[in-house]
Amino acid sequence: MAVTGKGPYDPQNIFAKILRGEIPCKPVFENEWVLAFKDIAPKAPVHVLIIPKKPYVSFMDFSKNAPVEEIAEVMRSAGQIAHTLGLEEDGYRLITNAGTNSGQEVPHFHLHLMGGGPLPAFPQ
Ligand code: AMP
Repeated sequence: MAVTGKGPYDPQNIFAKILRGEIPCKPVFENEWVLAFKDIAPKAPVHVLIIPKKPYVSFMDFSKNAPVEEIAEVMRSAGQIAHTLGLEEDGYRLITNAGTNSGQEVPHFHLHLMGGGPLPAFPQ
């Protein structure tokens, strides 16, 4: 079910549990700021979720409230992950769902990194 992307952070959301090591994931990258792991229901040959380690409900929360250094580190990590996964040559898509209209399901800010083959066009 879609979430609003607003309001208090729910420490019981599934990505918070992954960050605490309470449920497993398939990690592809980790540094001081970021964890990236394979999406459990991939929508592309490569589909990775990139999440800040700190608790932000959505892009709305992250872009308003994260320190500039953290925003830069998360974005730079996303580029580094795409490079490491070999996606630069043929390209990739980086998106985030924020709030109800987008269909955001997990209330912890995340970027979807998708590639590894041609991606469908955006919805019309
Ligand atoms: P969103 O709709 O933007 O909130 O995307 C949430 C994404 O999290 C979906 O693509 C799900 O397939 C993915 N997801 C949900 N649970 C897990 C999990 N335990 N491990 C990896 N990915 C997950």
